[in-house]
Amino acid sequence: AVSNFSFLLGGEVVGETEMLRSVATLNFLNGLIIGSIAIISFYNLFIFLSIRDTNYFFYFLYSSSMFFMLSIIYGFGYQYLWPESIKFNSFMTTAAPPFNAIFMTLFVRKFLNLYRVSSLMDSILKFFMYASLVTIVVSAFPKFQNVATIWSGVLAVLGAPTVLVSGILALLKGEKSAKYFLIAWVLSILSMMLMGLMITGIIEFNFYLFYSFSLGIFLEMTLLSLALANKIHFLQLDKAEATAAVLKSEMELTKNLATAAAQLEYKVSIRTHDLAQEKRRAEVQARTDALTGLNNRRAFFEKGEKLFQSVREQNDSNLLTVIMVDIDFFKKVNDRYGHSAGDLVITSVALSLLPHFMGSSVVGRIGGEEFAVVIKGINSSLAEQLAEQARVATESREITSEDGQRMKVTISLGVAAYRATDQSVDETLARADIALYQAKESGRNKVVLLV
Ligand code: GH3
Ligand code: MG
Ligand code: MG
Repeated sequence: AVSNFSFLLGGEVVGETEMLRSVATLNFLNGLIIGSIAIISFYNLFIFLSIRDTNYFFYFLYSSSMFFMLSIIYGFGYQYLWPESIKFNSFMTTAAPPFNAIFMTLFVRKFLNLYRVSSLMDSILKFFMYASLVTIVVSAFPKFQNVATIWSGVLAVLGAPTVLVSGILALLKGEKSAKYFLIAWVLSILSMMLMGLMITGIIEFNFYLFYSFSLGIFLEMTLLSLALANKIHFLQLDKAEATAAVLKSEMELTKNLATAAAQLEYKVSIRTHDLAQEKRRAEVQARTDALTGLNNRRAFFEKGEKLFQSVREQNDSNLLTVIMVDIDFFKKVNDRYGHSAGDLVITSVALSLLPHFMGSSVVGRIGGEEFAVVIKGINSSLAEQLAEQARVATESREITSEDGQRMKVTISLGVAAYRATDQSVDETLARADIALYQAKESGRNKVVLLV
């Protein structure tokens, strides 16, 4: 609704000197106001150049187009900006409002995030933008300049309330800086309406009202500057909040991962512990005779050899004795009482051997009904006495089978003393075996010592 008003400063109003003087003063003040808009425009350009936010660039375009439009309306364009160029002035007069409309639309759509607020409003404003572009092209042809002027007036009349509705929608959708925007826009609409009413002659032309138009635009520009600063402030707050939220969720993730890792580690440690225990159990099992609980053959030879070597290293006191034990006529036990009764006898003999050979000794079951003992730290005659005690104890014990039968067995024992020439426990054991054989040969239920 704005067009060329520079003619209004022309001949018609001349007459009274006082009037002329007040026009000059108003003109000067108006120049200051329009200059201030130019400053606002440059200020926003500098902000754009330093922070590179498109909002500021669009606002720079919008405010500078306001500057040009006002310059044209009040005749400064022809007077100072493009003097002597009537043709260009005529083009600019027609093209300035659609230029202004394009930049305004760019700024408003960006500032209100209009695409997100209402895609319909965004599309309508986009339409106004293209329509204004067409108007500018048309203004280049002097023939169509009148049509273009009327067309841009129509666009202004339709566009102003569209922007108003967009602002209200944005405010309702929580766009915080839309409040300042709306105040600025209402001011702008009022100024434009006033101007429109004066152009169309609905209200009488009045100098003060005429000049108050630029004041209204100046206020609009100032308020929009504030709105923009406010928006950027909120944007930064939102950004900080978003960063904080991301940090928080990252921390939670890290915490959860740490918890999961700790839980896994705990489970693994329990499993490891279980496995270690299982392994130990398996190791013990691999070295234990299942029937008697004594060392099995493998464990007996390992431990016996260790004991043997420890004695061999201490040359001064060669005190080591090996005893071989075999149950007499065991086949008969199996034959008479059955195999499981035989097992019971083996277990009973094994357990009755143990108390006689405590201390530094190794007792093992090395065959079906054969046992062996390695004793360290006593001489062979003492060992012989221990063997004799074991023999007597076995002889006198009565074993009751599961089905109530009473059984008695005897054992034969071969005792051999360590000799300095023995390289391993096997050699001493071999002599104990010979002694055992002698015990068997000489009637069984005996102890034979081989020194
Ligand atoms: P000897 O007095 O000469 O030793 O006579 P023996 O009958 O005991 O003869 P020998 O030692 O050669 O026989 C061992 C028998 O022990 C052979 C086998 O039937 C029996 N035997 C071996 N292992 C087991 C076992 O684990 N359980 C039972 N019940 N019998 C076994
Ligand atoms: Mg035997
Ligand atoms: Mg036997």
